Amino acid sequence: QARKRFGQNFLHDPGVIDRIIRAIHPKPEDAIVEIGPGLGALTEEILEVNPKLQVVELDRDLIPVLRTRFFNYPEFRIHEADALKFDFSQLMDEKPLRIIGNLPYNISTPLIFHLLSQADVIQDMHFMLQKEVVQRMAAVSGDSSYGRLGIMTQYFCKVQPLFEVSAGAFRPAPKVDSAIVRLVPHAELPHPARDLGTLQAVVRTAFNARRKTLRKALGTMVSVEQLQQLGINDGLRPENLTLADYVNIADLLVCEKNSEGNDD
Ligand code: SAM
Repeated sequence: QARKRFGQNFLHDPGVIDRIIRAIHPKPEDAIVEIGPGLGALTEEILEVNPKLQVVELDRDLIPVLRTRFFNYPEFRIHEADALKFDFSQLMDEKPLRIIGNLPYNISTPLIFHLLSQADVIQDMHFMLQKEVVQRMAAVSGDSSYGRLGIMTQYFCKVQPLFEVSAGAFRPAPKVDSAIVRLVPHAELPHPARDLGTLQAVVRTAFNARRKTLRKALGTMVSVEQLQQLGINDGLRPENLTLADYVNIADLLVCEKNSEGNDD
């Protein structure tokens, strides 16, 4: 019996499972971590290639099911834990991690933010997500779905939407369409911010008022003069700015705060 509370929709279509595994392309030497293995649909296919697979599963009732099903893989490790609070760096030995998961959709956005904060220990990530979430991740300035998730994901990663998966591939079938996305952390950040927290605050504030002009949306943080100084028209809307623009705004705020501090 699948549990709604844990966002459980189990994959059962062998064709879809096979396509996901081919997209991940697991290799024996990879350090792979699966989030939310459920009953083990993807787990089984990965284990065949990579018997050192580790999984993080929150539903304690699934742990014995997984142990029994995969008892003949002695190196397989199950972490009974909440992925939202999990420190993935503890799983890293020598190689950066490859993270995969058919994620519980009810926590996918906070989970992505949690993983992005650990991007330095990650080689790549492959996730099944609600189709709209993948669209938001890949959206660029001007798209209707462009916002905080896309900007912060692209700050850390290259985003590659791979293919869509229909609801019929799951049991029970979710009410939404799904898609697979590949996220590859940048070797070097294309637009590093002086202070990540300030960048996050600027982006959050802007998109809390996404229909307003920048003058209004960012009014509590940035003056019209500061925007002009950066060559940004204050009559634009938050969706018109690129990641580089947001980084420039955040960096200006950090510089001015620092220079205020120096005057004391
Ligand atoms: N991978 C399986 C499949 O494809 O059939 C199950 C996918 S199901 C959509 C999501 C899985 O994530 C469930 O097994 C659920 O119990 C687990 N889960 C839910 N919340 C979690 C959390 N916070 N941390 C780790 N696992 C979680």
